[in-house]
Amino acid sequence: MRLNLAVHVYSVPMRVRFRGITQRTGLLFEGPAGWGEFCPFEEYDDDEAAAWLACALEAANEGWPTPLRDRVPVNCTVPVVSPEKAHEIVARSGCSTAKVKVAESTLEEDCLRLEAVRDALGPQGFVRVDANMLWDVDTAVAAIKAMDKAAGGLQYVEQPCHTLDELAAVRRKVNVPIAADESIRKAEDPLKVAVSGAADIAVIKVAPLGGVRKALEVAEACGLPCVVSSALETSVGMAAGVALAAALPELDYACGLATLSLLDGDVTSDSLLPKDGYLPVLTKAPVPDRIEEFESPAPKAWVDRYERVLSR
Ligand SMILES: [Mg+2]
Repeated sequence: MRLNLAVHVYSVPMRVRFRGITQRTGLLFEGPAGWGEFCPFEEYDDDEAAAWLACALEAANEGWPTPLRDRVPVNCTVPVVSPEKAHEIVARSGCSTAKVKVAESTLEEDCLRLEAVRDALGPQGFVRVDANMLWDVDTAVAAIKAMDKAAGGLQYVEQPCHTLDELAAVRRKVNVPIAADESIRKAEDPLKVAVSGAADIAVIKVAPLGGVRKALEVAEACGLPCVVSSALETSVGMAAGVALAAALPELDYACGLATLSLLDGDVTSDSLLPKDGYLPVLTKAPVPDRIEEFESPAPKAWVDRYERVLSR
């Protein structure tokens, strides 16, 4: 269905460089069911962006399935920062689970950061790491063993290597559970990815999988416990991720949905910020009442991209 919608292109600076970006840009529009956010990363082609648009259209046109819970637990995220800064992020977050980005600095630096994170969490907290496919099998095995020790026990390691075969090889050689992220969301057909044998946990993200309903199908098809994570959305897109976490039959792990603090601002005054380690479940996305403050100075490329993907 082609809707004639007013669209707004936003650009929000990142607090810390994350995933190689310093500015988060995307597009917002309103439909009969509420606001949707279309924010595929700049380098994604139209094929990959189509799922992100489906997610935004679901929020705007249909709304989300009935939630099974009214709040969801979240982890705090620790980018590649100094141990002191990592300690501060975790201590300030109020979360009992921390996700630490690794493999972008030296193993020694990663381990020092993990020690600081454990110190801030205390012995009861959970520490997970994400290597974003940056290791080969041997590097992964050595790094995971060292990090498991430095962190005083890892909850899991996310996407240590690129392929499912490599994940399976790593999984056989370490005692830390393996989570698949890119392997699922970048798959040609996420419903058909045979992650069994390669992973213990599936990371699912609502926008790359094409919306809440689609992601629920993927969760069911993969048959693994799921961790719902964000794609660095503003609160508008984040609400869809929370809706997914709220609709999953089982939710055993804290979600990676507390990433708003990585942005230096938000398009709404009703921000989805965690309180005591939880995010509230909303029935629709918050209204982007601060959009004028973050209006992109160069919206054309984004509007063109949106129209191109919409008319496919
Ligand atoms: Mg990841």
